Amino acid sequence: MIKKTLITTAIDYANDVIHIGHAYEKILADAFARYQRLINGKENVGFVTGTDEHGTTNEKAAKKLGIETQKHVDNISDQNKKEIDALDISYNRFIRTTDEDHKKVAADFFKKSFDNGDIYKGSYEGLYCEGCESYKTLTELNENGQCTLHTTREIQKYQEENYFFRWAKYSDILKTLVLSERFVLPDGKKKEMLSFIENGIQDIPVTRPKYKLPWGITCPIDDSQVIYVWFDALINYFTYGSENNLWDNETEIVHFVGKDIARWHVLLWPAMLASVGYKLPTTIYVHGFINLEGEKISKSKGNVIKPSELVNKYGVDAVRYYFLRYGPIVEDVDISVKHLEDVYNGELANGLGNTVARIAKLAQNSGIDFGDFDFATFSGDDLKMFDQFHDFRVDLVIQNIWKKLSLLDKHINENEPWKIKDQDKLKEVLTYEVGEIRNITKILGPFLPSTQKKIEAVFNKSFIKVGENLFPRL
Ligand SMILES: [Zn+2]
Repeated sequence: MIKKTLITTAIDYANDVIHIGHAYEKILADAFARYQRLINGKENVGFVTGTDEHGTTNEKAAKKLGIETQKHVDNISDQNKKEIDALDISYNRFIRTTDEDHKKVAADFFKKSFDNGDIYKGSYEGLYCEGCESYKTLTELNENGQCTLHTTREIQKYQEENYFFRWAKYSDILKTLVLSERFVLPDGKKKEMLSFIENGIQDIPVTRPKYKLPWGITCPIDDSQVIYVWFDALINYFTYGSENNLWDNETEIVHFVGKDIARWHVLLWPAMLASVGYKLPTTIYVHGFINLEGEKISKSKGNVIKPSELVNKYGVDAVRYYFLRYGPIVEDVDISVKHLEDVYNGELANGLGNTVARIAKLAQNSGIDFGDFDFATFSGDDLKMFDQFHDFRVDLVIQNIWKKLSLLDKHINENEPWKIKDQDKLKEVLTYEVGEIRNITKILGPFLPSTQKKIEAVFNKSFIKVGENLFPRL
């Protein structure tokens, strides 16, 4: 049976342009999407990313600049898309929550949940962090009364009429889901999610009054309100999925998210879907955070680097490689430009680049006919190299490929083909080595797509000719 897969990243707020802290999730999801396309066909895979454009944060950012909110989010969304394109992210759609189709889908979703009795009118009195765009309890704040994720922002006190979603009603269903296999990964994240449930899930306001926040999707049952930004944003996945035949029982739905927003995806989103009777996500994969030289990446710290800056300096595939192999797949990681450069020199210039160049040169000098090779068909052995994609461990898949690469390098050093005079022996050694580099090249696509094409162009010929230097030493 052919399996369909829908892959999503979280969508970024359009208050400011994304930085390298946001890049990891896109590259991770992209590698998984490219892998799925290889094994299930591109027509069976949908990959969506984009921008989250409603809510207080975006509106305030525009006000601060003295421009219209729409103009501001257009501008940021445009820049974010360029950053994501610089990373060679193969999304099928870059969705914006201000897109007309999404606004309609989100309003219909809200209405359906209301019609099913899960949304009711109430009034909220309590705390709100505009950075998280979320309601807070006192126990969630630090000793200074600040949100632990947004210590430079002031916590707001809200007192307003709005509509509430019957979140608490879904507590038992959510608990069963969290405990089920592969719903939340890695397994270590289950505990935190269970403790949210055990502390008691409260119904949550899912609208804001327009007189306070006019910037949003008008509530379909009361036009004096707009839909709460999280309720609106989560639906973007369904907008894309339902419009592309990817929200049904034949589709595996995989959401990649950072640990800070895991609970919205693991707890609120499935409750919303259950409320309207739609299919629930298959897996929510929760990754850690990136720190830069021991510091949180933020504008106030002045250590913001854009993905495109790294790409311009080191090349897109070097950046992808670094993040995929050393990124926060489970735990937080500390990265640095120095480490990136060491990895570039050690594993890409001396590693992959050097091995490719050595074999190409030996093959060219030999004048041997190495025959054709099919780079598009995958054998059981090839697919075995991808096994750890099952657990989304791209880092381990890459480690295994690089192990294969160093074994090949060892083979060259031990056999010293440049010294072999016997033509039959030389042919035997080089045929093995060319075969191995061809096999490695074949499986590089999900990680280093443009490098893979370049190596393939060198080794897809019967008579091999040396190509360009893939990773010039820094
Ligand atoms: Zn916050």
